[in-house]
Amino acid sequence: MHIGGEWVDSDDRYELISPATEEVFATAAKGGTGHADAAVAAASRAFEEGTWRNTPPLERAAVLDRVIAAVTARMDEFTEIGVRECGFPQRLSQAICVGFPLAHMQHYADLTRTYAWERPGPVTGMVLSTQLVRREPIGVCVGIVPWNFPLIIAVWKTFPALAAGNSVVLKVDEKTPVAALEMAAILRDAGLPAGAFNVVTGDGETVGAHLVRHPDVRKVSFTGSTAVGRQVMRDASDTIKKVTLELGGKGPNIVLDDADLDAAVDGSIYAFLLHAGQACESGTRLLLPSSLHDEFVERLTARLKTLKVGDPFDPATDIGPVMSAVQRDRILGYIESGKQEGATVAHGGGTPQGPGYEKGFWVEPTVFTGVRNDMCIAREEIFGPVLSVISYDSVDEAVKIANDTEYGLSAGVWSQDVPRALEVAGRLQAGSVWINDWHNISQHMPFGGFKQSGVGRELGADALDDFTEQKAITIDLTGRVDRRAYGLVLGTPPNA
Ligand code: NAD
Repeated sequence: MHIGGEWVDSDDRYELISPATEEVFATAAKGGTGHADAAVAAASRAFEEGTWRNTPPLERAAVLDRVIAAVTARMDEFTEIGVRECGFPQRLSQAICVGFPLAHMQHYADLTRTYAWERPGPVTGMVLSTQLVRREPIGVCVGIVPWNFPLIIAVWKTFPALAAGNSVVLKVDEKTPVAALEMAAILRDAGLPAGAFNVVTGDGETVGAHLVRHPDVRKVSFTGSTAVGRQVMRDASDTIKKVTLELGGKGPNIVLDDADLDAAVDGSIYAFLLHAGQACESGTRLLLPSSLHDEFVERLTARLKTLKVGDPFDPATDIGPVMSAVQRDRILGYIESGKQEGATVAHGGGTPQGPGYEKGFWVEPTVFTGVRNDMCIAREEIFGPVLSVISYDSVDEAVKIANDTEYGLSAGVWSQDVPRALEVAGRLQAGSVWINDWHNISQHMPFGGFKQSGVGRELGADALDDFTEQKAITIDLTGRVDRRAYGLVLGTPPNA
């Protein structure tokens, strides 16, 4: 762990298992609540002492720039960490474990330079006074991140918080601590004061929950499952913490009858199969017009047969393993439930067999047809390479099915008629809607969920708002008691 600028070990250690090989590729300290307390204390000390929060924004941005340069110089290493730690196929790891984190880091560094840290308030005219609105850091911010995109989500929690002058305690997922620990060392070497950024490991129910309840923590930014998000909201409520939640999804992907089928087939595969389906904003419910259903499914399954599932270190590999044995068994359980509920397996449906799959956690890309939206495989987030195809007869019906879910993170529409697609997009209850695309999460656009997919937004032009408190400062300009509001209320002093 990294606490108060020092490496901290623990008596307990985790074994980190590579998902493709089941090899122990590293061990990591397993933190407890004492480590969480130490990290919050270090973060509080750093905040009160004030070196980082009082560093001018341009200099804070310069520190973030040095981090970007250091990560850029170690791109191959971060790519390898992504492959070993998470099972990302190499090409994908280059993008998701290095390329996107770098672009997003740069966005936050740029925002640090341009953000309206202080602006004049409106002229009110009633009394002669002037106002300022300042954006100040909140204090100790806790980030809790999942295992599926460990570095990029750690960047979303850490960079805007540090940009705003806060201190941060990051609780990494127990399975994937490596990239965030590397980032801690890089931040320290870039000149961040000790204690401004701390990384603790440990179980969610103990260490994570302890951080969420901690009275000295002012904000929690959590990414993970909706079930744990509910608990985080409850635990944060005793001390009225500011809370940002990025939770699960069950993205509806609507193909309209005028879609470009070549693009829509590949796009629909990309939508559900990126990182073996372990992405919160995946398109996991494919809504097809009944007139196109059979042709589309035929093309989709033919295209899936061309994809290579296997060794993530092989540059030719398209799809890697899933994260763990627990995750694999959970996904296989959902596949079984789909079969039992009467859906038809149009592709896959089990674990791949043969050479290359003896070790590791594998699930075949799986397509169910004949799915009804009330089936378990259409309602619950599977978090694996499983697609549920639902057919519809009218656009109204497609929209109704799409919105019939507790989630609201992402959705998609495929059509060659953009105004028509935009009209459908306007009816979808989702934080991100992609038209003729998927997974296009730009640092310039807000990202987050409607309904039970979350609270708040990350990224976008307003990304620092959530990590600052607004302070309204009013300055009297009259110097005269009789012109002030309290002069009116109290009357003129007798000897004035
Ligand atoms: P999870 O909710 O089980 O765990 C997420 C993190 O929370 C981990 O670090 C875990 O240790 C910690 N945690 C667990 N219990 C806790 C508690 N009681 N208090 C505080 N922290 C606790 O999720 P997961 O299985 O690791 O990740 C998959 C989930 O994350 C999926 O549901 C996925 O949709 C979601 N996700 C959402 C986004 C998004 O931006 N909306 C992005 C990625 C993943």
